[in-house]
Amino acid sequence: MCGVVGISGHERAAAKLVLGLNALQHRGQEAAGIGVFDGSYIHRERHEGLVGKNFALDDDGAPRPALQRLHGFMGIAHNRYSTAKSTGDNTYEKRSIQPFSIVTRDGQLCLAHNGNLTNNQAMRPKLEAEGAVFQSDSDSELFMHLARTAPCSGMDLRLAYACRQVEGAFAIVAMDDGGRLYGARDAKGIRPLVLGQRDDGHYVLASETIALDAMDASFVREIKNGELVTIQGKDLTSTLFTLDQQPPRPCLFEAVYFAHPDSMYNGHTYGHWRKRMGEQLYLETRDLQPDVIVGVPDSGMDAALGYAQASGIPLEFGMRRKHYVGRTFIDPDTNGRSNKVRQKLTVNRDAVAGKHVLAIDDSLVRGTTSKQVVDYLRSMGAREVSLLLASPRVLYPDYYGIDLATSRELLASRMEHEALRDYIGADHLHFISVEGIYRAVGYSGRDAERPQFSDHVFTGAYPTPLTDMECHHQSERTAR
Ligand code: 5GP
Ligand code: MG
Repeated sequence: MCGVVGISGHERAAAKLVLGLNALQHRGQEAAGIGVFDGSYIHRERHEGLVGKNFALDDDGAPRPALQRLHGFMGIAHNRYSTAKSTGDNTYEKRSIQPFSIVTRDGQLCLAHNGNLTNNQAMRPKLEAEGAVFQSDSDSELFMHLARTAPCSGMDLRLAYACRQVEGAFAIVAMDDGGRLYGARDAKGIRPLVLGQRDDGHYVLASETIALDAMDASFVREIKNGELVTIQGKDLTSTLFTLDQQPPRPCLFEAVYFAHPDSMYNGHTYGHWRKRMGEQLYLETRDLQPDVIVGVPDSGMDAALGYAQASGIPLEFGMRRKHYVGRTFIDPDTNGRSNKVRQKLTVNRDAVAGKHVLAIDDSLVRGTTSKQVVDYLRSMGAREVSLLLASPRVLYPDYYGIDLATSRELLASRMEHEALRDYIGADHLHFISVEGIYRAVGYSGRDAERPQFSDHVFTGAYPTPLTDMECHHQSERTAR
């Protein structure tokens, strides 16, 4: 997962972009990059580490050098969270930090991408045969070479061409050295992108609405699936790059886990939708009758609050998150296996001892967190522990930019319910139903013909072709 922002018409564009990136830090912590245009040149700074490490103010209040070098009145920026496996080659890794830049016959293009393309492996050799020289192993670079070799002229048409050639998930922000800012979303609208406007009429683009708040812009609307917007000064033009427009299918995991709880979706915050998942969990488990509800910080807190409010059972600060944990340490007594939950969280004995504790988390992936949470609560005196998950069983891998495990590692896909409950060590284990999560996010249920969300990790219904995966399986079959 990554975060993107874009802005135009601000004399200190880079400083504004930093505020936006900082608001989107939860979407990626590995690296951050900014590109700005000063009327003549596009300047870029791309660095490993958190936004604050390279783009904040020094202790004496002076902007860090990287920020000082970014003069420009418009720009784009990116927070990186790599889902592609690291090659271990650091130079190569650094070259994967966005935004990317390329020169076309219509000038220079600078672009940042959130999402993952599913025909990268298939497209690369073709582009290389046509003379493309890839700088990194990032799938996002595909946009650059496709825009450069597009059989058309005009940067907007080049971008539209690139968007039509790629498959998979993308929310992109881009700009050129003609002073135009662009935003686009894949044909299904899998990854989020919103449009905002500042008081002076200039536009802002961002992955989530909390970045608009941070950049003093108000929410205008979502960029539509299959839409490309071109912003020049205060003018915005919108085109659809897709040939057959279909209803959007945003990724349901944004609502479950990724998006910040204070960002807005469909008129409410994600926190609101997560509370409704908690209410739905209550409707599905009325007979449990626990003494106390505990949210697993931070991702289970909103659902836990929703459960407590719907049921009238008290919510306690049964687990708290430590503020100063960065890295996980090695525990010498567990043969190097570190208990991450005990290093990140603390348990409030008074709230849990002797009680039937109902713990709520957002999701179970490999099961490590859940197992450690249950064990921790018991060791602090909980009499009975029930574990509820505010998302259905994660059964299928994601190929669109979420770093979810391969199917072999997905615990719920390997174990029957009873075996899973036993492994986790909970007295009761319950996952929200697929229909239930659709009800929580405002629908009467899942439309089986046209699912309203990309819910493939729960259902296996992938919203796009998986060209690279199919090529991979085919070559594995031939090898055998
Ligand atoms: P598990 O320990 O079962 O592998 O993972 C479940 C935990 O990881 C949950 O607490 C959930 O909040 C968190 N989680 C869910 N999806 C992701 C993800 O894509 N990336 C990261 N870093 N954490 C996730
Ligand atoms: Mg979590």
